[in-house]
Amino acid sequence: MFTAIAKGLGITFKHMLPGHSTTVQYPTVKLKMSARFRGLHRLVPTQDREKCVACYLCPTVCPAKCITVEAAENDKGEKYPRIYKIDLLRCIFCGYCVEACPVEALEMTDAYELANYRREDFEFTKERLLK
Ligand code: SF4
Ligand code: SF4
Repeated sequence: MFTAIAKGLGITFKHMLPGHSTTVQYPTVKLKMSARFRGLHRLVPTQDREKCVACYLCPTVCPAKCITVEAAENDKGEKYPRIYKIDLLRCIFCGYCVEACPVEALEMTDAYELANYRREDFEFTKERLLK
């Protein structure tokens, strides 16, 4: 039993040494997210429009059913999402939507500071997702 206590205290004291702490002084200091972190979504733009071709795969696979897509056709006969929005209050950040996209038009960023006061601020429209 003594060995276990000593081992536990050893770990505790080790984390008190400079450079060994796992906590940061947030919000002054922010953690660097790993490349695999799944934060806020982003619609990838191309030269003159969004890359999304409104194929409906992402809303189909989304387990939380929080993606709304409405397709339309532009002057060149290309399909694009007239409406594209994600309700972040329902999203579980599983990343299935990104995996399902056949044209890599959707990605997840390292943005995690998503707190807000009004419900409508959690609705991320196409314009907000393209930023
Ligand atoms: S991350 Fe998951 S829950 Fe969120 S929009 Fe994508 S598929 Fe839906
Ligand atoms: S899966 Fe990709 S191309 Fe299809 S609607 Fe979603 S974002 Fe657009």
